[in-house]
Amino acid sequence: MNRTAQERSRIAPEVAARYEAVIGLEVHAQLQTQTKAFCACSTRFGDPPNSNTCPVCLGLPGALPVFNRKALELAIRASVALHGEIHERSQFARKNYFYPDLPKGYQISQYDLPLATGGWIDVELKGETKRIGITRLHVEEDAAKNLHEGFADSDRWSYIDFNRCGMPLVEIVSEPDIRTPAQAYEYLYALKQILEYAEVSDCNMENGSLRCDANVSVRLRGAEKFGTKAEVKNLNSFRYLAHALEYEIERQIGALESGGEIAQETRLWNVAAGRTEAMRSKEFAHDYRYFPDPDLLPVSAPQSLVAAVKRAMPELPDAKRARLQQEYGLTPYDAGVLAATRALADYFEASIRAGAAAKSTASWISVEMLRRLNDAGKDITACPVSPDALAELLAKIDAGEITAASGKKVFATMFETGKRAAEIIASGGLLQITDPSAVENVARAIIAKSPENVAKYRSGNEGVFKFFVGQVMRETRGQANPQLVNEVLKRVLGEP
Ligand code: ADP
Ligand code: ZN
Ligand code: MG
Repeated sequence: MNRTAQERSRIAPEVAARYEAVIGLEVHAQLQTQTKAFCACSTRFGDPPNSNTCPVCLGLPGALPVFNRKALELAIRASVALHGEIHERSQFARKNYFYPDLPKGYQISQYDLPLATGGWIDVELKGETKRIGITRLHVEEDAAKNLHEGFADSDRWSYIDFNRCGMPLVEIVSEPDIRTPAQAYEYLYALKQILEYAEVSDCNMENGSLRCDANVSVRLRGAEKFGTKAEVKNLNSFRYLAHALEYEIERQIGALESGGEIAQETRLWNVAAGRTEAMRSKEFAHDYRYFPDPDLLPVSAPQSLVAAVKRAMPELPDAKRARLQQEYGLTPYDAGVLAATRALADYFEASIRAGAAAKSTASWISVEMLRRLNDAGKDITACPVSPDALAELLAKIDAGEITAASGKKVFATMFETGKRAAEIIASGGLLQITDPSAVENVARAIIAKSPENVAKYRSGNEGVFKFFVGQVMRETRGQANPQLVNEVLKRVLGEP
């Protein structure tokens, strides 16, 4: 048995139950500016390698950085959205280390005087709200990107793309308030949503705009002291975060149970192997020799600027969900679904303004529309059905022009073709059948074809009634008024 398999040796649930995990997350989010943090190079993603570079972000001697005002504004926006205390005066510091992706030999970051301290995020789990504290938020620059190619020893290449070097980031450090992988997941989800709502970052995890490191330790339940923590890097999806934490918690409990100790170390999540692996221990921890960057003035965040950012702050997720419930009588669940993104909530409210009723709009969007968008791999902003086209369709269903069943078909066609409901209904002959004699003709034909089921019904088997309803609906392609079908069938089947 190899070492990792031993490490993972399954922990009995009653043993695991004696322990509690303690987790703190460090999240990096790229600020959505046009230009880099300290130079005028473009931040565009996907440009040819090394095309967006200049003496500043290439770390050439003598080049001087100038802090991007928009980056400051966005970092303040993030701090406000996270309820942090913004310091009027903060400072850039040099974090010194050598790595090929860091041409200056130091990263410009903030250390003892960060832009903001304190704050919190409320996360909702199983109907309970848990407040997770935020320790600090600081601004820093990103490093370049290393790319490795080839496997044979004689033919291995490494490349560096400096386009990413100098991108503006905020690092948001949480308090060790998180207790389960599920809470960590919800915290990251809520943080991402807030940063997206506030238009601080596009939070695209695939492009690396949002990255997460997790610190985790375990302790016996009831113990006051925290255990020794490991830091797991490279958790760039929600799934990896949850899996890595589950793995790491079990590994640490296993080590303690077998009389071992937890080494304070940095670990990596190995996606392919599904395990965390030691990367470097704290014995080799860097001493970064931080000192104030003499090239940059202290960062000034005057109250007037903070006030202006507050005034311009869009409605944030918590407020949006609360308002959707109050204003439209939505359930907390529906409000949560519709407020998933600002664009989706905007779509919902635009439909209401176009005359649709809140309850049915909420359910059509969250069921029919989200499913189709998901299947088509489309975002709500690219939805082929406009809010007023949806409102028009719902009005036709409400008015009884078409049945709800036909409505779904019409919606499907609207989604596929971009046509309006009226046109589809007219050309498809989908108008609701409300003529009792038409329904009766269909009902009689079906009854005549199913003498056995008729006999069952007459001998008291109420269940077969549904069979007849289903048959009539099918025969009328969902266009018969369902209530009418019920009435007619009851009458005709009740005949001696
Ligand atoms: P370091 O000095 O090693 O960077 P910090 O005190 O700055 O450690 O904390 C980094 C992150 O680790 C924070 O998110 C914090 O909440 C979390 N953390 C601190 N101590 C523990 C612990 N014992 N177990 C789990 N997480 C912890
Ligand atoms: Zn540059
Ligand atoms: Mg730290």
